Amino acid sequence: VPELPEVQTVVNDLQILTSDTITGFWTDFDKALKSKNFTQNILGAKIVSVQRMSKNIVFELEKGYFLMIHLKMTGKLLLMEHKTWSMEQNTDKHVHHVFSLKNKGVLEFHDIRKVATLELVSQKKLQEILKIRGIDPISRDFTLKKFKELLISKKNKNIKSFLMDQSAIAGIGNIYASEIPYHAKLHPLRKVSDLKANEVKILYKAIRVILEKAIQMRGTSISDYRDANGKRGSFQHELKVYKKTGENCKKCDTIIEKVVVEQRSTFYCSKCQH
Ligand SMILES: [Zn+2]
Repeated sequence: VPELPEVQTVVNDLQILTSDTITGFWTDFDKALKSKNFTQNILGAKIVSVQRMSKNIVFELEKGYFLMIHLKMTGKLLLMEHKTWSMEQNTDKHVHHVFSLKNKGVLEFHDIRKVATLELVSQKKLQEILKIRGIDPISRDFTLKKFKELLISKKNKNIKSFLMDQSAIAGIGNIYASEIPYHAKLHPLRKVSDLKANEVKILYKAIRVILEKAIQMRGTSISDYRDANGKRGSFQHELKVYKKTGENCKKCDTIIEKVVVEQRSTFYCSKCQH
């Protein structure tokens, strides 16, 4: 599942579509479209900006609409700059939605599991969604002070669950919620209320360091994730604990363990992480 670094990479790739215009839309799976008159409302719309909102890709369109795309499990947006769309010539059965653009060819939406969603929302609705969502951990608003407040508001959680709680911090999923505590040398099941002042600082820094490094490396391609050019990221080569159960810790040689927390696997080194 694409997390913040993967979605940010796609959004960065799609900046090239700013001020382009959507001239056509094709779909063979309209269940994924969560708004009425979807096609009607996007045709002819100019793209004002492309942004990331937690794990969503948000195209701001002229006329005050926002096209929100959630890639979910297997969604992929592929930009084909020199292509024109033709249903007859399409050989990929996983292409379910296609945007034709005035200047930049076509934007294909591939989705093997067909659970990704596309939704058109108004500015007002977008504000409401933003209000209930947690803070973006790579934004300027994510200060140590703010982080401490969040820890207090979620004091009963352990580190792993806290990092995954989208109402506290938005955009972190299972991969980075395992890698961040390893980097911070903190046991993922420690209660956040038990953290000492210096550990709070270390955890705060680890969130930034790991997410920023993952963005730099264009995300983690373990299964389906690809960037907007269809290329793999490379942070999978940097993973220290995620899905490394039974392997040796790179720092101390201890066997990496796995524990299930809230139905999600959590990976850690019992010697390095306290
Ligand atoms: Zn270790």
